[in-house]
Amino acid sequence: MIELLSIDLSNYCSKQCSFCYNHSTREGNTLWKPQEVIAFATDCIEHGVKAVSLGGGEPFEYDGVFEVIDTLYPLCYLSVTSNGLPLENDAVWETLLKHKPDKIHITIHHPDNVEEVERVERMVKRIGNIGIKPGVNLLVGADKVDEASAVFRRLCQVLGNEQIILVPQRFSNTPSPKQLSQVAGGKPFQSPSCLLGCKRPENFCSVSWDKKVNSCSFAQGKVVLGTLDYKGVMEALGKVEWKYFSTFSQTTC
Ligand code: SF4
Repeated sequence: MIELLSIDLSNYCSKQCSFCYNHSTREGNTLWKPQEVIAFATDCIEHGVKAVSLGGGEPFEYDGVFEVIDTLYPLCYLSVTSNGLPLENDAVWETLLKHKPDKIHITIHHPDNVEEVERVERMVKRIGNIGIKPGVNLLVGADKVDEASAVFRRLCQVLGNEQIILVPQRFSNTPSPKQLSQVAGGKPFQSPSCLLGCKRPENFCSVSWDKKVNSCSFAQGKVVLGTLDYKGVMEALGKVEWKYFSTFSQTTC
């Protein structure tokens, strides 16, 4: 049974990070209509999904995101992962005040960038002050372990360990599990990737911006949803040819 559902609302993001696994750009496409997202997620919730996570692309640059939030919030545990930049806009912030999800995670892509770290820290505090649970996704590259460690220590002064997710960078800059542990100061930490071996999750489904699914957000071989409902999810997941995947994955917001 799928209990955790991640939905990438679009392929559009004005930040256009070169390493985005979703290849989101300012030219990125949007295929999901808000009413489709609502109907799809509602059916999944009726079939046992307990938590829905909205990502992208940048969810707060998706037209209709607050409509989606308003409808799904009473039905499940609802979280949004964002780069945080749209929330700096007063109009977006004012709208958020009236349409809150349970949780918002803001991503730090460059722990060596003081401006970005301070911006995210400020935003995390603002989010907490309006009654939304905040969190941070901290991207860790093998060449930035010391910088990420310093940011992790700093974040621990405003967030609990469980609110900080360490996202290992991949390709030639992938940190080892030991380096990730070093970033967390040897304490328990969370990561979205399988660190010691690739294992297909049984209760999670990732739905991409182009309406395909797999059991992992980062895995190739996603299968198109035949129907936009829980049955479509289960049928598509049944067709996925699960392959061993690199233990570390790239982040997205
Ligand atoms: S990684 Fe996040 S902020 Fe960067 S382009 Fe992708 S969605 Fe946007």
